Amino acid sequence: MHCPFCRNPDSRVIDSRSIDDGAAIRRRRSCPECGKRFTTQENVLLMVAKRSGVTEPFSREKIIAGVRRACQGRPVDEDALAKLGQRVEEALRASGSAEIPSHEVGLAILGPLSELDEVAYLRFASVYRGFESLDDFAREIEILRQGGSSGEPAGSR
Ligand SMILES: [Zn+2]
Repeated sequence: MHCPFCRNPDSRVIDSRSIDDGAAIRRRRSCPECGKRFTTQENVLLMVAKRSGVTEPFSREKIIAGVRRACQGRPVDEDALAKLGQRVEEALRASGSAEIPSHEVGLAILGPLSELDEVAYLRFASVYRGFESLDDFAREIEILRQGGSSGEPAGSR
């Protein structure tokens, strides 16, 4: 790995240790050229499997961008969006799986979003879960009033 200070193409590992109960490895590196030290971290890349079968690395930014769209005109600030992104990522990582179907990523967003903003939640759910009629909205609003999100695709009930 190249040195982030002088761009020297080589660096030396001087210490490695396991962190987060073995979920990641942190390495202390030293540059033989400028002598500066820096730290790198190695962890399993969380992958998202799309319906098409293509997999891509999980992107917290992508999650936040999608939720931000649903939150347009709503009193939701960037800080709250960042926290939601973090919650979703933590929930997905906690599943212990290295590859997650994209619809499960959507499900992981619905819960925290319903707590953040009910209107944004309904917008997101209507697209994500394919609401087709006013009845779908009415049912979902009823569930929200009872204090929760169903977290299931509309067609599965
Ligand atoms: Zn250097």
